Amino acid sequence: MNSNNIVDMFLEIAAKIESEKEYVTELDSVLGDGDHWVNINKGYQKIVSMEDKLRTLALNELFRTVGMSLMSTVGGSSGVLYGDAFITASKTLVGVDDIDLPKGAEVLKAALDAMMKRGKAKPGDKTMIDPLYQVVTAYEEALEAGAPKEEVAKIISDTAKKGMNDTKDMVAQKGRATYRQDKGVGYIDAGAATMYYQLDIIGKHIAG
Ligand code: ADP
Ligand code: MG
Ligand code: MG
Repeated sequence: MNSNNIVDMFLEIAAKIESEKEYVTELDSVLGDGDHWVNINKGYQKIVSMEDKLRTLALNELFRTVGMSLMSTVGGSSGVLYGDAFITASKTLVGVDDIDLPKGAEVLKAALDAMMKRGKAKPGDKTMIDPLYQVVTAYEEALEAGAPKEEVAKIISDTAKKGMNDTKDMVAQKGRATYRQDKGVGYIDAGAATMYYQLDIIGKHIAG
């Protein structure tokens, strides 16, 4: 995928996020303060507003620009976590003009590492990290096993969904859900849901 393909993918993600206002807001209203959709939607609408400029940028500059914009425009935990993820991922893209299957795994791994470091969270803490961690692991295993492209796309999509659903039974260790007496058990994490939407589309573009 080149810069134009990546921008097309971001536009598709932005439309998906925009259409999930009610559900995501409901999830963050249960476990958090109800603003997760507003935060993530603001971020993707910012990306949409930069479309023309982003199309002219090399991949590393594109990711770095998106990360810096998210840091400055998106509020809440999401702004910092996604901002840092994009900026860190941009460092894997210096001199790269095509994100192929192995590079895609490298980019997602860099984003995951940045989020885990910045949020001091680990898999199982009931956050947006859960679907991303599971996808990176399954994606790397699929590459290792030499799985064909279409299979990798399905693995990414299925695993992201599972990662989101797995947060339902988890006991929150990070974020606002930890303030609840029940630690959110029984409810899907909002950040995990929006991470799933993104990974589902990313999988289809990267390996579809
Ligand atoms: P805020 O909680 O500040 O209102 P958002 O509502 O935008 O921010 O994002 C909440 C989401 O952020 C949670 O659903 C969870 O997935 C994620 N999250 C919260 N804290 C952390 C953390 N320390 N590490 C990773 N993800 C986190
Ligand atoms: Mg919130
Ligand atoms: Mg908030």
